[in-house]
Amino acid sequence: ATPTALLVGTGRGAQLGILIKGPEVLESTRRIDTVVLDKTGTVTTGRMQLQAVRTTGDVDRAEALRIAGALEDASEHPVARAISAAAREELGELPAVEDFAGEPGLGVRGRVEGRAVLAGRPALLDQPLPDDLQRALGDAEAAGRTAVVLARDDAPMALLEVADAVKPSSAEAVRDLRGLGLTPVLLTGDNRAVADSVAEQVGIGEVIAEVLPADKVGVITGLQRSGKVVAMVGDGVNDAAALAAADLGLAMGTGTDVAIEAGDLTLVRGDLRSAAEAIRLSRRTLSTIK
Ligand code: ADP
Ligand code: MG
Repeated sequence: ATPTALLVGTGRGAQLGILIKGPEVLESTRRIDTVVLDKTGTVTTGRMQLQAVRTTGDVDRAEALRIAGALEDASEHPVARAISAAAREELGELPAVEDFAGEPGLGVRGRVEGRAVLAGRPALLDQPLPDDLQRALGDAEAAGRTAVVLARDDAPMALLEVADAVKPSSAEAVRDLRGLGLTPVLLTGDNRAVADSVAEQVGIGEVIAEVLPADKVGVITGLQRSGKVVAMVGDGVNDAAALAAADLGLAMGTGTDVAIEAGDLTLVRGDLRSAAEAIRLSRRTLSTIK
C-alpha cells in the first residue's frame, strides 16, 4: 500500500465528515463482515423524553417525580437527563442528592431528603414489583419505552417511562450496510422489548439486548472468536472498550470524548449513513492501491 493513496483516502473522508485517526486504519476494514450498532445515541437520537409517571397505591405523582428528578440530576445518562429535565420543568427547583452512586447499565442510587432512593432497571430492586407497576411495566415495554423503577427505602414508588426516537437516517444507513454485504447487529443494555422494537423499525435482524456495559466488549470478542471481523459503532462511555476491541471502531462525533478517543474513525455528523460511507470509501481506496 502506498502511503500517498491512503492519505488521499483520508482526505476524502474528511470531506464526507469522517475523521480517520491514521491511514493505517483503512487496512483493517478490508475483511469486515459484521457491524455492531449501539442503540441509544447511535441508532436512536438519544434525546429521551419522559412519557409517563405511574405511581403505585396512594403515592403522590409530584412526590415521585421530585425524588426521581433529584436523584437523576446527578447522572449523565440520557434516561436520567429526560427525567431530571421533566421534573425541573414541572416542579422548579429540586432537592439535593447525597451519597450518589451510579451502577453502569442498571441505574442510580443515593439519598434524597434523608432517605435511601434508587432508580433504574427493575433488576436493581431485590423484590418483585406490586401488581399495578408490573402491569405498567409490561405495557411500557410493549410500547417500546424504557421503564425506570423508582424506590424509596426499598419500597417501589413509581415507574417512569422514557422513550427516544429512531434517527430519520438510521433505516437507510442499515440498508446501505447490507448493500455492502455486511450483517448489522443491534447491541444495547436496554430491555429486549425496546431493543426489538428499534431493530424492527430500522431493519436489523440480530439483536443482543440487556448487556451490561462491562460485557459489551465480550460480545465483540465473542463474535471475533466465532470468526467474524467486526466493526462497532457507538457513542457512549459504555461503548469505549467495545470500540477499542473491534477490528474497526467508529465513534459518533455527537458522542462522548471517551468513545471518540477509543474509536479508529469519528463520524463527525453523528449520522449512521457515514458508517457505510466510511467502509465503502476505505474499500475503494484499498482497491486503487492493490
Ligand atoms: P445503551 O446500551 O442502550 O446505551 P446503557 O447500557 O447505558 O444503555 O443502559 C442500559 C439501561 O440501564 C437503560 O436502558 C436504563 O434502563 C438503565 N439505566 C442506565 N442508567 C440509568 C439511570 N441513570 N437511571 C435510570 N436507568 C438507567
Ligand atoms: Mg449509546
